[in-house]
Amino acid sequence: ATALVTGASGFIAVWIVKTLLDEGFNVRGTVRSTSKGDYLANLFKEHGAKFSYVLVEDISHEGAFDEAVKGVDAVFHTASPLSGDAYEPDELIKPAIEGTLNALKSVKHHGPSVKRVVITGSVAALMEPKDQIPAIYTEADWNTFAIKEVQEKGVHADQELKYRASKVLAERAAWEFVEQNKSQIEFDITTILPSFVFGPILQEVLTLAQLNLSSKLFYNATRGEGLPKARALSPFGNYVDIRDVAKMHVHALVDEVAGGERFVCSAAPFCWQDIYNALNAVEPPISNIPKSDFTTKTVHPAINSSDKARAVFGFEFTSLQKTAADTLASLREREVVW
Ligand code: NDP
Repeated sequence: ATALVTGASGFIAVWIVKTLLDEGFNVRGTVRSTSKGDYLANLFKEHGAKFSYVLVEDISHEGAFDEAVKGVDAVFHTASPLSGDAYEPDELIKPAIEGTLNALKSVKHHGPSVKRVVITGSVAALMEPKDQIPAIYTEADWNTFAIKEVQEKGVHADQELKYRASKVLAERAAWEFVEQNKSQIEFDITTILPSFVFGPILQEVLTLAQLNLSSKLFYNATRGEGLPKARALSPFGNYVDIRDVAKMHVHALVDEVAGGERFVCSAAPFCWQDIYNALNAVEPPISNIPKSDFTTKTVHPAINSSDKARAVFGFEFTSLQKTAADTLASLREREVVW
């Protein structure tokens, strides 16, 4: 079987491509430049012709994926903007929604053998403020707060809320498309909603500025002395290992019961001090880790629950120690050229 992966040059997407190739799939990736495509072709050269790429320069362009979906059996849609400095909310929201809808429309009209489209959403689409502490977020939640904030405040809305709005609006558009087209389409969709993703990097990163956002957060927090104590001890969010994210995307494709479902993909909440402590406990010891402080227990205000994925897929998550150690090793290997 052949799977299409949109935005194949991204941090998560390269791992999805690798996992699919390792499972025996043929993979076609969409990229925005030939240099990124050539990098991937070289990375996966041991798989020969089982990996190929096509150029899709603008995912917002109607019909963007019409050629890319021809002859494929499954689609993974990961391409979506993450820019932390977007001024106009639409810089994030438009490509997120239109990219998603264009992928679904191309499948509808040109991808007759596609049975399922797996979409990379985010827990950002869930995190509606709640009164209880901790707030537990599941597949039943929808972040309408971010949409309202961005509608009311426009360019002055909080940066993070612009991104959250883009993810919730894009996911909602996908479910609405399926509902409105159900008598005319032969495929279903599944959405995977990861929290902060850490882990080894496979994508091309020529300069630090090119490093994807979640890896950059990890890099900045674990350099030198690390973060000041108060920040290191504050709850930061929830994390998940990149290899688990890729694996869950493949489960979403091959497991029949995953059709029409959302899945939160998140291991546990963390603060950076948890990561320093985990790194300091690695054997044999790793050099130059920010210091340990085993005394404080952080109360986490928000927990993203993956109980559904655990129950449906029998899913187990990688430990924080392994994720943190492998992320650090990968970043240290890469930083030599930055
Ligand atoms: P990356 O920045 O590494 O990947 C983003 C991908 O989307 C790249 O392939 C990028 O292409 C493409 N892309 C970005 N903006 C556009 C645009 N305007 N038009 C076309 N393509 C675009 O980040 P991740 O791998 O982390 O993100 C992949 C997906 O995972 C996104 O949907 C993101 O929302 C989601 N996600 C990520 C989390 C994380 O912690 N990393 C957590 C939860 C969800 P190019 O390489 O050419 O720039």
